[in-house]
Parts: sequence; structure tokens; C-alpha cells
Amino acid sequence: MKAHVDQDTCIGCGLCPSICPEVFQMNDDGKAEEIVDEVPTTAEDSAKEAADGCPVNAISTS
Ligand code: SF4
Repeated sequence: MKAHVDQDTCIGCGLCPSICPEVFQMNDDGKAEEIVDEVPTTAEDSAKEAADGCPVNAISTS
């Protein structure tokens, strides 16, 4: 599974790194970004939870 944060859509609320720090981190622009190419199996549920919880639907998973 992969996860991607759309930089133009993210409003930097900080939710996704707090739910799934294995995959998401805030960058110097104050936006979240994915820090892994493949989501570790153990983090898939929390990555999906983060995507579902994003208030602006900036996270896509595939
Ligand atoms: S939850 Fe959405 S808006 Fe909030 S930091 Fe993550 S990607 Fe950005």
C-alpha cells in the first residue's frame, strides 16, 4: 500500500502524523508528507485512519 499527501490540499492540521507517525511527518512548509514509499503492513490501518480523518481529503492511498 502507498499513501500520498497532496501538498496543495493539505492545510497542515497535524492530524495524520499524530495518528500515523510511521508514515506521515510535517515538513518545513508546515504541510504533511509521506516519509515512506511503501506503507509498512503494521501501519496500514493507522494510515487509512489518517486518510479517513483528514479534514480536507488530502491523503490518497493505493
Ligand atoms: S490530516 Fe490532512 S490536512 Fe491534516 S496534516 Fe494530514 S494531510 Fe494535512
